[in-house]
Amino acid sequence: MEINVSQQLKAPIGYIREYEVDELVDILGINVGSRVQGSVKLTRTNRGILVQGTLHTNTPVECSRCLKVFDYPLTIKIEEEYFPVIDVNSGTPLEIPDEPGSFTIDEHHILDLSEAIRQNALLAIPMKPLCREDCAGLCQVCGKDLNKGQCRCKKTEIDPRWSKLVKLASAGKKTNKRKKETE
Ligand SMILES: [Zn+2]
Ligand SMILES: [Zn+2]
Repeated sequence: MEINVSQQLKAPIGYIREYEVDELVDILGINVGSRVQGSVKLTRTNRGILVQGTLHTNTPVECSRCLKVFDYPLTIKIEEEYFPVIDVNSGTPLEIPDEPGSFTIDEHHILDLSEAIRQNALLAIPMKPLCREDCAGLCQVCGKDLNKGQCRCKKTEIDPRWSKLVKLASAGKKTNKRKKETE
């Protein structure tokens, strides 16, 4: 979403304008647009324009347990200051503050919201998304989606705390067998 802020750059510090957002944004960089909606407030600062707002969208993510792709509802909070590359009155180039991830307003006074939306949306995606709170995940042996029912491996699965005992027990059985054979 591109906003021409030439008028606002000429306005006094503290001057506010609000914009409705209803935009397709390629959040994941996979050429699939997610519809982003909400509103943003633009405030003239001494250095540029401060963008603040809360936006909403749904973006496809992969469940960290069952690997199913599902739409995750995202709340995107934005608070970014945009710095103009040229002075709006004189047209002379301006030095951009050396701050990590700072956004710029181009020489045509266009403020492009999309990149700020994209970056903040990525931050809002949880590290381990779940398709549902109690997702059963995949069987680690056969890979079956356990949300669709149990698999056969489940019965032979042994609690790791008992596996040593089980090994000892089966070793004991073998030695008993040998004893019998030698008798
Ligand atoms: Zn899942
Ligand atoms: Zn299984």
